[in-house]
Amino acid sequence: MRSIAVENDGNCPVFHPEFLEKALSLARDRVDRVRGKISTDWPRRSTKPDHEGVVRHPLWCDDSAVWFCLHCDGKITGAQIAQNLWHCPGCGAPPLDIFNTAFWCEDDGKSLSPVKMDGTKDNDKPDFRVVDDRPKLDLNAEKITLLIRSALLDDATNISEKLGALHAEITVDDDNGVWVSLEENLWPHDKEPVQALVVAAQLGLGVELEKMWSSIPFHWPGLGELTASTSEYTQMMLEAYAKYDSLPNGKT
Ligand SMILES: [Zn+2]
Repeated sequence: MRSIAVENDGNCPVFHPEFLEKALSLARDRVDRVRGKISTDWPRRSTKPDHEGVVRHPLWCDDSAVWFCLHCDGKITGAQIAQNLWHCPGCGAPPLDIFNTAFWCEDDGKSLSPVKMDGTKDNDKPDFRVVDDRPKLDLNAEKITLLIRSALLDDATNISEKLGALHAEITVDDDNGVWVSLEENLWPHDKEPVQALVVAAQLGLGVELEKMWSSIPFHWPGLGELTASTSEYTQMMLEAYAKYDSLPNGKT
């Protein structure tokens, strides 16, 4: 039985004997019903070993007294795998991972050792694992960069600035400061990236803004200032190139 709890503080209901007893009896009930349902769907030999411990795999329908788990390399007896409804008693891998030959081993599984049972069927002492599954924020440089760039896009009011935001060089240093270099031809020199600064402050980061002069993707950066629509910009840019192309050599 597995309990999902935020903290192992003893207040979790699973630590109260009455609750625990009730939960375990519901779980056993459920197991019996599932077992009943499965044994009507599966070959009888899949849930009842013969006198030599041979059982039939419910999916592959091959017979064997020894089985192997592809997932944890455990060697499993026919009785064990039938009892556990074809899930590995060691790691819980599903029937799809259970085979009668360890074809993935050079010695066909001779070197594999018997599976370690994760609590036996006769021992109803619950095995608690307190699982903290709260999402954890790992704010690495890549994620910070993504947020800052997204904020730069919020700040961009035309295509030129959008390209500037997408082209900006963003570096996060070890002291969690952010360096943002904005292309002079794409981002107006006097425009403060307000949203980017807000986001950096939310993340507790200092920002250094810089200008850079690099090769820009398309000529005539001013064209991008005329529109906020990428398709409109693309059309103007294509036309500008076409016009330039049709001019005689030497004239612009
Ligand atoms: Zn396994």
